[in-house]
Formats: sequence, C-alpha cells, structure tokens
Amino acid sequence: MSLWGALRAHTGCQRCGCGYPIAPACIAPWLDPIPPDACPRCAQRPIGGRCPSPACRMGWFRIVRTHVVLGYKRGDVQRLVLAAKDTAAASAVVLLGRLLAGFLLSHPAIRDYDILLPVPFHRQSLRGRPVHPLTAIYLDAAPALRPAVCCDDLGPPFLIQRRDLPQLRGRSEALRWTAVRGAFALGFPTRMLRGARVLLLDDVMTTGATTSECARVLMEDGGAATVDAVVLVRQPWLAHMEPVRRPPRVSLKS
Ligand SMILES: [Zn+2]
Ligand SMILES: [Zn+2]
Repeated sequence: MSLWGALRAHTGCQRCGCGYPIAPACIAPWLDPIPPDACPRCAQRPIGGRCPSPACRMGWFRIVRTHVVLGYKRGDVQRLVLAAKDTAAASAVVLLGRLLAGFLLSHPAIRDYDILLPVPFHRQSLRGRPVHPLTAIYLDAAPALRPAVCCDDLGPPFLIQRRDLPQLRGRSEALRWTAVRGAFALGFPTRMLRGARVLLLDDVMTTGATTSECARVLMEDGGAATVDAVVLVRQPWLAHMEPVRRPPRVSLKS
C-alpha cells in the first residue's frame, strides 16, 4: 500500500481517534526518519562523525534546533509534499496539516515554545495556486495545536515576505543564502516577540537559508530569544546538488 492509500484509509484509528491529528507512529513504515545522531541544528545525517552542511558548520544557521515531521525527503513522503507545494492539492494539504498537528502534539518540546508561526509568502509566489500551500497546512493544523502552543493568527502576521524570491529549486547552496537576504521583515512594529522562544514552520528545509533569514529578522528586529524550526521534510545531504528531476504527478484520489 502507498502512503496516501494508508492515510486515506486512516479513520477510526485507536491511537488517533477519527484521524485528526495523525500520530507519526501510524505512518512510520513510509518514513526515512532523522536518526538520533543527526545534527540537532540542521537535522543532517552526520558523515565521518560531523555535520556535512558547510553553512551549518560555518555558523550561518540562526536556527538552534530543527524538528522534522516526516524525516528525509524521499519516496512517497516527497510526492505527498510536492503534491501540496506544486498544486496546493486540497487532500495533500489536509493530510499534511493532520500529520503536522500529530507530530507537534506528541512532541514534549512543543511546550518549550511561546509561539508557532509559518515562513510567510509573497503574493507573486502563488504562481496560479489557489492558496499558499504552507499557509494552508498551518491554518489547517492550528486549531488542533492551540491548546499546546500559541499560533500566530496571521492578521496581521508577525513576519512578512517583502519581495518575491527567485525559484530556488535546484540552485546552489551559496546562491540560496544570498537570494534570501533581506527578503523578510516584521509585519508590524511590535514588542510582543521580545524574549520569545519562537518555533518557525516551513515545508522543506533544503539548505536552511530561508528559515535562518527569518530567524535573523525575528531575533535582530523582533528581539526573539531563540528560534527553532519545524519542517515537514529535510532534504538529504548532497541530493540538492544533483540535477533536479520532478517526480511524476501524483493523484491523491485512491
Ligand atoms: Zn493513527
Ligand atoms: Zn548541521
């Protein structure tokens, strides 16, 4: 059975109830999980006992800790995330919202954060999609998460994207870090973030450049004490240096 076949059949589960949120253990067979010895900062698998990400080793990461909902970006998990990202397919968005909520609610560290907020988007980046996928996933998960963590209600959002970013898929690591510089800002002048422990949501962590730039703004302009990230999937090391090939389009109808 495929991952989405299992997810669509996932109703009346003893662990999850009627299927919202979905516990990570219920999809464990389809995951390539982050191992316990992975780099806590960027979730990359160690090579020769150390983190292989040069940006992380050089201290460009402003994120202290990265939590990963679905492990490394591979196989069915990758196809599910791309179905949401590329077309904002409603069924993929809902499933990812349920998986995000299940992961965070089963994670004791959720109580360490003062606020959860998503990486914002620029309206030009909608590119024909009816909604912004990450925002839709966040809004889908937020009602289930609110008892455990305060969620940015986005009106106005704490963080905005000031300009459209070039398509970063398949770009080199260094280009990604320079492309995002200055792209984000606080949505309004506020003291509410001072001293806050922020959890920042993104869909895919490729190099970490986008989340790190958001973290820089939250700390330097907003006064946040720490910023950690929660991402749906982590790009495994070196895969992003290879030619990017789009996986076949996936139908989420079973
Ligand atoms: Zn379940
Ligand atoms: Zn690292």
